[in-house]
Amino acid sequence: MSVDLVVSGLTVGYGSILAVRDVSLTVKAGEIATIVGANGSGKTTILNALCGLRDVRMGSVSLGGTDITHVPPHDRVKLGLAQVPEGRRLFGRMTVAENLEIGAFTRTDGSLAADMDRILTLFPRLKERYRQLAGTLSGGEQQMVAMGRALMARPKCLLLDEPTMGLAPQIVDLVLDAVRTVNGEGVTVLLVEQNAYRALEIADRAFVIETGEITLTGPGRDLVDHPRVRTAYLGHDS
Ligand code: ATP
Repeated sequence: MSVDLVVSGLTVGYGSILAVRDVSLTVKAGEIATIVGANGSGKTTILNALCGLRDVRMGSVSLGGTDITHVPPHDRVKLGLAQVPEGRRLFGRMTVAENLEIGAFTRTDGSLAADMDRILTLFPRLKERYRQLAGTLSGGEQQMVAMGRALMARPKCLLLDEPTMGLAPQIVDLVLDAVRTVNGEGVTVLLVEQNAYRALEIADRAFVIETGEITLTGPGRDLVDHPRVRTAYLGHDS
């Protein structure tokens, strides 16, 4: 079952600095949405606040109609929210299999084998690397493990923070195809990408963020050529 993610008036700060101000955005059930913006504009701060890794100063977050603003991170995972963090954050001295299994730590239903099969079908390369230490994998393979680990939680809503960062074009395609496949299975997706144009191509809805505030919203494809997107990324109009 797909779920909505609704963010209202979100304000998040570090000390006296408000890195995210009054951000409201809705990702409708079964949609792919993207937040695009320059380095330091607040994208990671938003995702971390949605996961419960950053305190919210003001505003609220709800998932599938349940207010999760003050729910601890592990309980958000149980409610169906999983994140693929920036920089993958794998356990390098553990195997691919062990990293994937960790993703299911909040689950009590015991039907992990089917999910593991599903992930190895989505990323056949991981089948070949199954017993290899995660720290010895290529960047693209590590990203597949990070996505697989999040999927092992069986999320209804998946947050991805710059999943294609530093990857070769072919692997970027593979990762974004996997995002689409997962979304096609009913998972609501919120994607943060430094590869703005690739993200806009696959997003039903896009939010442009500039210095902590949403300045433009629209269907992803409509924003591909929007001058504001260029400004938000490059810091100028030309
Ligand atoms: P990037 O694409 O570089 O990851 P971003 O859009 O994800 O950037 P954030 O990492 O959310 O942006 O940062 C938003 C703002 O908050 C920036 O001004 C950044 O310097 C500041 N910031 C981020 N993390 C911290 C922190 N731990 N302490 C203080 N300020 C922080």
